[in-house]
Amino acid sequence: MQDLKPLVPSDELRIYRVLDGRNSLSEKDKQQLWKLERGFEGEMEFSRLVMERDIEGILLNDLLYEYKGSLFQVDKLLLINNSILLLDIKNHEDDYIIKEGKWHNERTGQDIRNPVEQLNRCETLLTNLLQDLGNKNALESSLVFVNPEFFLYNAPVDQPIIFPSQINRFLNKLQKKSLSVKKSQFILAEKLISLCKKENPFTRVPPYNFEELKKGVLCERCRRFMRKLRGRTLVCDGCGSLERVESAIVRGVKEFVLLFPEKKVTTNHIYEWCKVVESKHTIRRVLSEHFEVVGKWKSTHFIEKMEE
Ligand SMILES: [Zn+2]
Repeated sequence: MQDLKPLVPSDELRIYRVLDGRNSLSEKDKQQLWKLERGFEGEMEFSRLVMERDIEGILLNDLLYEYKGSLFQVDKLLLINNSILLLDIKNHEDDYIIKEGKWHNERTGQDIRNPVEQLNRCETLLTNLLQDLGNKNALESSLVFVNPEFFLYNAPVDQPIIFPSQINRFLNKLQKKSLSVKKSQFILAEKLISLCKKENPFTRVPPYNFEELKKGVLCERCRRFMRKLRGRTLVCDGCGSLERVESAIVRGVKEFVLLFPEKKVTTNHIYEWCKVVESKHTIRRVLSEHFEVVGKWKSTHFIEKMEE
């Protein structure tokens, strides 16, 4: 399987993680972070299961499109042989029950949006988009529940659902029918990637501002603040991770840009943001090495280098 559009955490999840590390999430926001993490874990888990198989095909993750004014998101598309599979990955746990067409969580007592309806909407829009691209391959769509703690009562047999205990057989089938990838499939995959929207208007994050967020370098692994150990090394007392100051500053800048796209990356801003690095000189040096310098004197700031 060729992973042509790899799975990465969304900006929304990344922002929530930073805000969590810098202590600015309410209890409600923490629950939202947990939900986002679970969703991402589910997608990672499914990617892992697909990638460890010997399946010939193309995998595309997280596609966001606008078709005639309607926005829709696709978790995963698999291009295999003559078919295109649209997969919506769900990491729900608990017992659910379908009552009069509604999906109801037995434990919390709450209804959730019917995921089959969402999938159908997505399929319709994607079918139209693919037709416009002149695609002749068949489109099949499924909801995939990856969490073994999930159970659904009253599930009709004709629903496009793959339950945890069926994933293995589903992948076996794919493996059997897969053939080496054709050039036309690559062309279609690249076209589908190029049509993706960059900005996600569904992104919802809690309000925050530079002044109120706690400053310092967050550990990449456990998101606790790191402290200076010696020379140019930082240590996390939470998990024992060590990191060079340079790499911590580069991460700090990326975080800063993610949270404050409208602010300029200046030595002073990054000095304040990273806090633990005592020397402005070091900050300036790392910025000049890893980022492009724009402007002069007081208006000097840095932007990301264009990839070669
Ligand atoms: Zn740590």
